[in-house]
Amino acid sequence: MSALTDLYAEIERCQDCELGKLRTRAVPGEGPEQTEILFIGEAPGWHEDQQGRPFVGPAGKYLDELLATIGLKREQVYIANIIKCRPPANRDPLPGEIQACSKWLDRQIELLRPKMIITLGRYSMAKYFPNQSISQVHGKAKKQGNIIYYAMYHPAAALHQGSLRKVIETDILKIPKILAQADKLLETEAEPQQLSLF
Ligand code: URA
Repeated sequence: MSALTDLYAEIERCQDCELGKLRTRAVPGEGPEQTEILFIGEAPGWHEDQQGRPFVGPAGKYLDELLATIGLKREQVYIANIIKCRPPANRDPLPGEIQACSKWLDRQIELLRPKMIITLGRYSMAKYFPNQSISQVHGKAKKQGNIIYYAMYHPAAALHQGSLRKVIETDILKIPKILAQADKLLETEAEPQQLSLF
């Protein structure tokens, strides 16, 4: 057992909001404990709720394809969500649910210590790019503390809205370049710093 697997067990017992009663399975997140990249989506959907794993439905398949375009397999990155249990009928997460669940993601990040956090969609973007809109912030990186944050549209949005497909496929291609510069960027002092890198 590691601190991370202990955390999964705590998440699986969590009843801190209504969703704890409604879920089939909690979806803590998955990936290697040593990872440079953490992707954060929104909330589990039906498939994720059944399997207890993040991004295993159609949006997950598309995420796998996007990762392949930058030479990554999903096993090489960590994938989590802003909330760990499925909202009924896939409705948007409520502010109280996001609030109640935020401690789990914060603890996960403390344990994983990723160099780069990539937000997928509006809800994870709002946590790290407050008061910004996804149409302005997608494809941009900023450094805060020891982490580079990078915002992308949600793969499900790109699946449903053809015009976003090209955008998300362009945005993911920037990740290797940012990662290659990460150590240098993380050494520089000035912060918080919005980096419009490309
Ligand atoms: N959408 C998300 O945001 N997360 C998942 O795990 C699946 C779909």
